[in-house]
Amino acid sequence: MLDLPFDNSFAREMDGFFVPWEGAQVPDPHVLRLNRGLAAELGVQADGLDTPEGAAVLSGAVAPKGGHPLAMAYAGHQFGGFSPQLGDGRALLLGEIVTPGGARVDLHLKGSGKTPFSRGGDGKAVLGPVLREYLFGEAMHALGIPTTRALAATTTGEMIDRAGPEPGAVLARVAASHLRVGTFQFFAARGQTDEVRQLADYAIARHDPDLADRPNRYLEMFGRVRDRQAALVAQWMAVGFVHGVMNTDNSTISGETIDYGPCAFIDAYDPAAVYSSIDMQGRYAYGRQPSILQWNLARLAETLVDVIEAEDQDDAVRQLTNEVGVFTARYETAWLAAMRAKMGLEPGGDDAEDQQIITSFLAILAAARVDFTQAFRALSDVVRGEREPLWALFEERSAITEWLFRFNARGARDGADAGERAAAMDRVNPVYIPRNHKVEEALAAARDGDMTPFDTLLDRVSTPFERVAGAEAYEAPAPESFGRHVTFCGT
Ligand code: AMP
Ligand code: MG
Repeated sequence: MLDLPFDNSFAREMDGFFVPWEGAQVPDPHVLRLNRGLAAELGVQADGLDTPEGAAVLSGAVAPKGGHPLAMAYAGHQFGGFSPQLGDGRALLLGEIVTPGGARVDLHLKGSGKTPFSRGGDGKAVLGPVLREYLFGEAMHALGIPTTRALAATTTGEMIDRAGPEPGAVLARVAASHLRVGTFQFFAARGQTDEVRQLADYAIARHDPDLADRPNRYLEMFGRVRDRQAALVAQWMAVGFVHGVMNTDNSTISGETIDYGPCAFIDAYDPAAVYSSIDMQGRYAYGRQPSILQWNLARLAETLVDVIEAEDQDDAVRQLTNEVGVFTARYETAWLAAMRAKMGLEPGGDDAEDQQIITSFLAILAAARVDFTQAFRALSDVVRGEREPLWALFEERSAITEWLFRFNARGARDGADAGERAAAMDRVNPVYIPRNHKVEEALAAARDGDMTPFDTLLDRVSTPFERVAGAEAYEAPAPESFGRHVTFCGT
């Protein structure tokens, strides 16, 4: 008997913020992949999920005992334009689980059928994008980046019409919560100030309980969200991650990465890198992510104007504008710390000098179109006295040779033990990321019923810092013949 330890605070306390709903019936649900490690962290019996009953629950067809399935309301700016009503159009919050470690997490389904928020959509998801989200979530988690994670990918036995027929699937995902900037926008846009306050109190209880009794707690909450998001986007930049669809409904209050649709990792360092088929203007390009995040936070700030402690509205706007402005400094501090760690430079150095060393390395990579992940990983070899792996990435070596003099001189000043420094660099510079061509290869095989490439790739990206003998193909960027990679939203 499947027994999930639910405790559903959102359903209990937030009436009016959702529609109680149930998933669609599906012909033949099967749990295709189950994240046993995550199940253990949740205190959930994996064996109970890996059953016909578990498959029925994980597909959404059967509501679990103790769960309270519901579709959440939210709005959002999509590519800059405001949609006052988005909401869970193909998703359900099954309920919350309090883990043995004391954390409260959402158990949520994506692809479980139409809801009152579906508009023209079919409410479904298909196998490729579901496995893509599974893979990227695990990769990000293994890289130490806050993220929602997949608990399971369940096939439904149904064929879904996309560009052609595709096998239907449902993703079960775990998140610190599904509160989004867009959740605040939904109520603020309707002038429902009491609901905005109620939502902020719920968010504080969930993510910043220490703020509960503070006099200006909504302003402080905003600062916490800002700081988490600044740290998050700095981590994305440090691994070359491009989210691809940073709409305000995909920016969380928890500071977790959410919604792996058209995302990708860069190969050559290129601030203008865009992969999404629908991002014609490059709004969500790699290098624009910090400023877009700040823009999204400004949208969150707008929802709080009428609820924060202030003398009048002008004063509220002034306070919130100041807090939004602080994003830049927070982001830059987090970015510099992350990049210093990648280069094995100790934090105590001269900021301007270190910034210069980092940005000139990035400029050299960009000019030579050298792979970002490989270049950073090769730097620890340099520290060990081995230049060849880095040199091998460059055809023209004068710029990198000149840069290495500065890098070595700067490193020497820290006086750290070279072996320890190199080992620390290897703990933050991955060998394996979900490379676009490898992801496509794995998803194509999965569609044909062969899960081996997916499982192998999942293994590699789940221990991204440990080089495995014989896995060279997972380190290399896509061959020239792969062309410019384009990703699609259709999860
Ligand atoms: P997403 O791109 O997944 O963040 O979704 C944006 C909005 O579109 C949300 O309101 C979703 O619920 C809705 N949506 C996306 N795909 C579908 C679908 N296949 N059926 C119904 N609604 C969808
Ligand atoms: Mg979304």
